[in-house]
Amino acid sequence: MSFANVVHFLEKIAPLAKLSKKEITLLQTPDRILKAELTVNGKKYPAYRVQFNNARGPYKGGIRYHPEVSEDEVTSLAFWMTVKTAVTDLPFGGGKGGVTVDPKKLNQKELEELSRAYVRAFYKNLGPDTDIPAPDVYTTPEIMGWMLDEYQKLTGKKAPAFITGKPLELGGSKVRDIATALGGVYILEEAVKKTGLKEKKVAIQGFGNAGMNMAQLLAERGYTVVAVSDSKGGIYDADGLNIEEVMKVKKTKGTVTEYTKAAKISNQELLESGCSILIPSALSGVITDKNAEKIKAKMVLELANGPTTPEADEILWARKVLVLPDILANAGGVTVSYFEWAQNKNDESWSEQKVKKKLQEKMVSAFQQIWDEFSDEKKSFRTAAYVLALKKIAAAEKNKIKNKS
Ligand code: NAD
Repeated sequence: MSFANVVHFLEKIAPLAKLSKKEITLLQTPDRILKAELTVNGKKYPAYRVQFNNARGPYKGGIRYHPEVSEDEVTSLAFWMTVKTAVTDLPFGGGKGGVTVDPKKLNQKELEELSRAYVRAFYKNLGPDTDIPAPDVYTTPEIMGWMLDEYQKLTGKKAPAFITGKPLELGGSKVRDIATALGGVYILEEAVKKTGLKEKKVAIQGFGNAGMNMAQLLAERGYTVVAVSDSKGGIYDADGLNIEEVMKVKKTKGTVTEYTKAAKISNQELLESGCSILIPSALSGVITDKNAEKIKAKMVLELANGPTTPEADEILWARKVLVLPDILANAGGVTVSYFEWAQNKNDESWSEQKVKKKLQEKMVSAFQQIWDEFSDEKKSFRTAAYVLALKKIAAAEKNKIKNKS
């Protein structure tokens, strides 16, 4: 979504959150937009760090490497991070970074140089209590490791809490690899309990980190995963797919479509297939006003960022399809990032069980708060999540202003 649309969206939603004109303007204005030009092997790459709002705590957000990264996109993403950390009650604000680059065109050495150059450009504005980066599209734990090393060289201090999503041996957290999917499972289980949904047939679009882990976790919990897909297409079996076998096929042949014991379907057909729970876990903007009427699922869990267009959202709301929005459904990743930061700050290493238990508590509590806000039935679950988050950010801003005066 462009930042102009974010501004428009905020104006629409603000009356429901009972925000004043001053508060709306504040929430529409990033605190700081930092820009730089990174040079690697004589080539220049535009780079950004947007610090949107820190009323609730240090800025937090990933760094994206993609040819389409722009100041506008990074600003919108920094806004979503501000909302996402508020939804799950993490003591963070929101920020985001990005470099306009096609990382597939760089060799390993150039990628490392670019990552170190990013830190050199922005490190004075980053830090464990100021602004904490993390991975995003095409940035990996290995890249986080290079960035940490560069930061520590520049500051002369050991500071693992400077960045999250690190490899385990550099202070990363257990469970981070499956955190997004597991957080989604906890939200889904709460929604199933509240609505009394009986049929547990699931279709999942996307079979990467989010989608594949989700399929595996749900199959283990007795859900029937009837369809999965990747960029090459999908597969469907009304009686349920054998997910372990599908994972083997994906690993060995590169695509789920090579699985021969199920019917082949397109990605479009997957969205409209016979299931009670639909989990978009790949691209944004796939549920639109063209297909929202045809969706058979009673529940949509948004593991992908922004899979539903605003028009489709209204159609699904009118059809009483419960949409569990991305800002809640995929917040498991940033929540375990917070746990990683907390462990680093206190020089601790939590067990897998402890991380999972704390993740469940956070997700269930966030779900319950939104459910309470939602139960007046005048607003969708997504709107309720935004209203709640914006109120929290506005309240923290008020506090900040009071403390200053
Ligand atoms: P990934 O790169 O690991 O996997 C993406 C999957 O989508 C792959 O299986 C790919 O084949 C599939 N795909 C690509 N094009 C497709 C198409 N046209 N139709 C259907 N499938 C297609 O990425 P990921 O980390 O799993 O992220 C997926 C989504 O989840 C993104 O929207 C991302 O922003 C969101 N998300 C991920 C995390 C995380 O921690 N991984 C956290 C929050 C949000």
